[in-house]
Amino acid sequence: MIDLRSDTVTKPTDKMRQASLEAEVGDDVYEEDPTIKELEAKAAEVTGKEAALFVTSGTQGNQLAVLTHTKPGQEIILEEDAHIYKFEGAAISALAGVQPRPIKGTKGAMNPEDLEAAIRPDDIHFPETGMIGLENTHNQSGGTILPFENMKEIYEVARRNQVPVHLDGARLFNASVASGISVQTYASYTDTVQFCLSKGLGAPVGSIIAGSKDFIQRARKWRKRLGGGLRQAGIIAAPGIVALTDMVDRLTEDHKNAKKLAEGLDRLDGLTVENDVETNIIVLNVKGTPYTASEFVERLKEKGVLAGAIGPDSIRLVTHLDVTSEDIETVLKLIKGII
Ligand SMILES: *Cc1c(COP(=O)(O)O)cnc(C)c1O
Repeated sequence: MIDLRSDTVTKPTDKMRQASLEAEVGDDVYEEDPTIKELEAKAAEVTGKEAALFVTSGTQGNQLAVLTHTKPGQEIILEEDAHIYKFEGAAISALAGVQPRPIKGTKGAMNPEDLEAAIRPDDIHFPETGMIGLENTHNQSGGTILPFENMKEIYEVARRNQVPVHLDGARLFNASVASGISVQTYASYTDTVQFCLSKGLGAPVGSIIAGSKDFIQRARKWRKRLGGGLRQAGIIAAPGIVALTDMVDRLTEDHKNAKKLAEGLDRLDGLTVENDVETNIIVLNVKGTPYTASEFVERLKEKGVLAGAIGPDSIRLVTHLDVTSEDIETVLKLIKGII
């Protein structure tokens, strides 16, 4: 099977498995796991933040950020397609007791003036604005890069109004490799950042949140409250160190493969690529074929290719570590056969 459903489907590399096997461990609730400490120190360095925390998933990282930045009864501003708003089971309300204030965006970018107008003035009727959320790359727009200028403008508005900013950077390394802007530079325009080790970077488990020392200490307590206090978890953190060391530069290959696939698909009758393929995600429209998206996905599956229907006519294809350039050629041939 060539699995293009997500970049989360990768299997840990031999080096990652070896690193798990050899990891020095201790009880991380006592902050005594040297491998976790090493990963967190490395993550703090990469993001240029004072401290970092290893968490079980991107969702946990984002929710710890919301829980730590806000108080119940506050409001957080998010772009209307943000993962935190659309795909985290309303955890911001269920867990943190805050309400979302979605703002219209263009490929994840909110207009700074709209954003500033949405920040609540001091009034007995209003919730306080507790956080602003950004996302890079932007998942719903098909892995597009949040323009750096936009991020800078938003951070300026946030600072002026003393509202903290959290960056959902589940695929921030994809954005960095594609734009040439370092993760550290991106992270210098946000108070806190979350990134996934388990997506393009290929680790089996985990994400990181990074921020000030004080913020991370408070987030650690929230993680414990949520049952996320880890024991000898250096076993699962060790592949994360390999991910940060070895797996960043190779993301360009995934981006090249995605471009090659998108160009090939666009040339085929009945198919159009809906998104700007800036990183590793393709959104393919099949309206011009005899098939609905789910029927198309079924046909693909019969031929040994896995993809996900994300709308009546839209299919998502994601390149990653376990997809080669030859696989892309195979997929193009198979799709040509189907249509
Ligand atoms: C995948 C993703 C998450 C959540 O990560 P999980 O590890 O699946 O919980 C959060 N934000 C964005 C933008 C994502 O793409």
